[in-house]
Amino acid sequence: MVINVFQPSLGEEELAAVREVFATGWIGRGSRVDAFEAAFAAHLGVGREQLTSTNSCTEATFTAMTLAGVGPGDDVVIPTVSFVGAANAIAAHGARPVFCDVDPHGLNPTVADVERALTPATRAVLLLHYGGYPGDIAEIARLCAERGVLLVEDAANAVASSVHGRACGVFGDFGVWSFDHGKIAVAVDGGMLYTRDPDLARRAAKLVYFGLEERSGHQRAARAADRWWEIEVSSFSRRSVMNDVLAAIGCVQLRRLPDFLARRAEVVARYDAALADVPGLRTPPPLPAGHRTSHYFYWVQLDPGVRDEVAADLYRAGIYTTFRYPPLHRVPLYRSAAVLPGADRAAERTLNLPLHQSLSDDDVDLVVSELRASLRRVMRG
Ligand SMILES: *Cc1c(COP(=O)(O)O)cnc(C)c1O
Repeated sequence: MVINVFQPSLGEEELAAVREVFATGWIGRGSRVDAFEAAFAAHLGVGREQLTSTNSCTEATFTAMTLAGVGPGDDVVIPTVSFVGAANAIAAHGARPVFCDVDPHGLNPTVADVERALTPATRAVLLLHYGGYPGDIAEIARLCAERGVLLVEDAANAVASSVHGRACGVFGDFGVWSFDHGKIAVAVDGGMLYTRDPDLARRAAKLVYFGLEERSGHQRAARAADRWWEIEVSSFSRRSVMNDVLAAIGCVQLRRLPDFLARRAEVVARYDAALADVPGLRTPPPLPAGHRTSHYFYWVQLDPGVRDEVAADLYRAGIYTTFRYPPLHRVPLYRSAAVLPGADRAAERTLNLPLHQSLSDDDVDLVVSELRASLRRVMRG
């Protein structure tokens, strides 16, 4: 028996939804994708016309960079503790990712961290919400607005996070979410793009489907036009749309999301209580008033050196842990000379413990007891 660090909850309801799609004879992008976009818009509290679904969050981020007009000569500020695909989206557009530091305990950048990284060439700031914690997003959104810099939120960790009722991902100009196999609400694969400006969402819909002006021959045939197979193309784009099989799964998962979140909150409370008094171990920071997290990560911080040994001990005991996200300014391809002590400090100390909605209380207790035993052993040695 292995305890995974992340794990989706998929079962009979999702299978039934897939069976229904098969029975319709249409598995491509259709009514289920429309329903998924509508359900997610309602979940976020934004207009349906502001969302565009994609086949992954990474594609949504690439699309956001295109819509933001990011290109050669532009700087885009991104916390060094970020998902590699987000930085790739910046660099692949010919722009320079400018890595900013993060708070060593919360792993989100502060307003000061972002401000320090702004340059005259900064076109956009691309932020994630570490582990679902919103961070200083409201203040950073204000800073970006003041400086005339676009704000893109990678809300893949933050599917249900909010600040005073406002969803993470909709504070800026663009937001992206993921429904891949490792997230809380899973569509097997899938992404979502929010654009503040609905005109840009209309452009996004073309960018994710070959640059075609209209999505299908059906749309044209429905207008009784003749030669509905002819096409009009506005850009040399790829194909990054979702499909009805994935969207049907995603719709079920969005309905189940409140239950997932409730169980995750219980698991986190159990970890917090059991680990509060462990010498040499720090639990995640408290959430500021008005902030809601999605409980995507549960992370502890240990002394450097100790951390790796504890991770290895847990792995041997069948408990998989990890560290998200290794700082990108240390990745050779990005060749950054940035000095980012907060991120370096976090990277040496942080360990993500198993957190998902299928964990039983016994699983959590086992993680805690193995963690305590390992710490006693390592600290003695
Ligand atoms: C999972 C994740 C992504 C990538 O999502 P995909 O749908 O797999 O492309 C991007 N950013 C963050 C923060 C993530 O957690």
